[in-house]
Amino acid sequence: MSNDLFGGLLKGLGSFMPQDDPDTKIFTANNELNNLQKQETEVYAAIGKKALGSISNDPAYSDIINELGTIQKKLIQAENQLRAVKEEKEALKTQQEALRCPECSTVNPEGVKFCQECGSKLGMASCSKCGAINPPQTRFCGECGNKL
Ligand SMILES: [Zn+2]
Ligand SMILES: [Zn+2]
Repeated sequence: MSNDLFGGLLKGLGSFMPQDDPDTKIFTANNELNNLQKQETEVYAAIGKKALGSISNDPAYSDIINELGTIQKKLIQAENQLRAVKEEKEALKTQQEALRCPECSTVNPEGVKFCQECGSKLGMASCSKCGAINPPQTRFCGECGNKL
């Protein structure tokens, strides 16, 4: 990039966000502060992780190490819960997709075999030859080529 072009670009940015505007200065200073605080916290965390082995039997740290243990247990629980909720959502989506009419996209109530809107056949088609589950309206099994 040539200097002229770079200068022009800076000028363009300058007119978009004036450098001497107090709001811009506050925004920039705030950003810098947040960035540095984040970096500081990360370094503290790195020190803590490194020191953990050598202080794990030190009674002076027992409270803080217990707290860490409690948080880590809760962390695992929270991760498990998140996974369970995601799986539940996936299952619900799959269920709804199975009830969604391939022709008109109407989501039909559970147990309905034909679309209540347009009469198309609903539900996954299982292959009589290999048992593979195929999407509704499939004419040939995607697994073995059997005519459905
Ligand atoms: Zn339909
Ligand atoms: Zn098949």
